[in-house]
Amino acid sequence: MINIVLFGKPGAGKGTQAEFLKGKYNLTHLSTGDIFRYNIKNGTDLGKLAQTFMDQGELVPDDVTIKMLQAEVDNNPNSAGFLFDGFPRTLSQAEALDVFLASKSESITATIALEADDEILVARLLDRGKTSGRPDDQDEEKIRNRYQEYNEKTAPLMGYYKEQGKFYAVNGIGSIDEITLRLSEVIDNL
Ligand code: AMP
Repeated sequence: MINIVLFGKPGAGKGTQAEFLKGKYNLTHLSTGDIFRYNIKNGTDLGKLAQTFMDQGELVPDDVTIKMLQAEVDNNPNSAGFLFDGFPRTLSQAEALDVFLASKSESITATIALEADDEILVARLLDRGKTSGRPDDQDEEKIRNRYQEYNEKTAPLMGYYKEQGKFYAVNGIGSIDEITLRLSEVIDNL
């Protein structure tokens, strides 16, 4: 099994790249943001809870997010591997993921970051907000809040994965094809 964490700030292109990589490497794509949005759309209790945090650009609490992610992994018992997109976003999530995978005799193979400058990404998100319909993409204050959450809670994960010798980074600026190629080079050499 290969299990990849796609890492990066909001707007870095994780979802876009995951769409290409999942087919190429036969991976199950799990985007916690997409799963929350699906629940919001369907009016579930989980969706209602998540929405109060998402609309403010804040992270959904760890216990809820971890439980949801584990259920999604369990729902795909025959998967050849997972592409985690937007998870983990906190140290507790990363630790819980390691313990959970270890309980299945699995582990994270690599974490690959898409790197890009904040100002480019904020502009990209505001642009995406014009068509995505996502409230958290439409308001610069909420976007800034998402970056603050990233810097405080998610950025420390780079150290966590570096210590495990599992951290890789690629330049996230360029055409979609160019970036897929950069990511593929990392995955092919794992
Ligand atoms: P994304 O689609 O990855 O940008 O996520 C959108 C929003 O969903 C985030 O701003 C959070 O409110 C919530 N979210 C997604 N993934 C997580 C996670 N791993 N932990 C906590 N909140 C999350």
